[in-house]
Amino acid sequence: MNRPAPAPSKILADLEQYQLNWKPTSIADHTLVVPTMRPFERILTPADVGTKILRKGDSGEAVSELRIRLAGFGGVLPGTAFDENLVQAVKQFEKDVMSRTESGDVDEAFAVRLDQFAKDWPINFEKQLKCPCGKCEGYGKGQFKGEYTAKYAKSKNEAGHKYEYPGIHRSVLWASRALMYYATLDQKNKIKFNMFSSGYRCHIRNQQKGRPTTNHMGKALDMNFSYNAGKSWVFNRLSDVEAMREIAKNRLAAKMGWASPNHFSMESAAQGAKTWVHIDVRAWAEKYRADVYFCKDTIGLDGTEMVTLLARSNGKTRIDPNKSQIFNPKMPAE
Ligand SMILES: [Zn+2]
Ligand SMILES: [Zn+2]
Repeated sequence: MNRPAPAPSKILADLEQYQLNWKPTSIADHTLVVPTMRPFERILTPADVGTKILRKGDSGEAVSELRIRLAGFGGVLPGTAFDENLVQAVKQFEKDVMSRTESGDVDEAFAVRLDQFAKDWPINFEKQLKCPCGKCEGYGKGQFKGEYTAKYAKSKNEAGHKYEYPGIHRSVLWASRALMYYATLDQKNKIKFNMFSSGYRCHIRNQQKGRPTTNHMGKALDMNFSYNAGKSWVFNRLSDVEAMREIAKNRLAAKMGWASPNHFSMESAAQGAKTWVHIDVRAWAEKYRADVYFCKDTIGLDGTEMVTLLARSNGKTRIDPNKSQIFNPKMPAE
């Protein structure tokens, strides 16, 4: 059922409130990152966005972006279609984040809230995600695409793929934001995200550490959480890590291990993940790991604001001096 479009005055008032409310947040990160995204300017008018609603059956740039940014809401894969999986992800976001009746429709309020979600959960690439080897630029050197370690030379299993992906997969980063959020929601602020203890690790880093695994060459993140013990926070308890893995299973449809194709994968405590949650996209099909899905900084991750993309899908041009010219990826066809 269609909701009537809100009155233009209401939209402008909402936009204004959104701007007023916007502030950098330190919830997700003790080091306080100021997001690269800025509150939008008053270039946007109600006619640009207010009447446009994206829904099942639609496609285009905005839909492809929704499939990345809602990855943590049920485990949506990259692609181009507004299909039933995306409908379910939209509904989950409406229910869990927006506290509004589920419709499966992406309207202006949804886009604004999704943009706000990125600002609520800033990600620190410089201090937490770049490769610490001191030799590469932070994300390997793009080496060894299509080459495999001896153990996987025959099977060509992604577990042994030596490729240094060009950054970190945007879907796993957006999914990590969902996990940060659900920690506060499902654990009622008893558990909160602390930091990424590991992001990118190139081949040089592996040599330095004597590691054989290639997961962290763009596909994986290690997340640390802390527990509210009243007056102080306790870091990296196994019970909290396990609680967060349960949340990842329930909310992100993540699985233990790599036997479930096209799901987020997690390592168990027995496999070493005793003080962190390891999550990766190793079990995703190759087309979902195309270079275009990887990013190296906040601009690459958050790209153009969803309100702008919604305006564009409405045939309107909104000039965004901050980013439109910088980030305009062509998504590969599904
Ligand atoms: Zn490196
Ligand atoms: Zn890991």
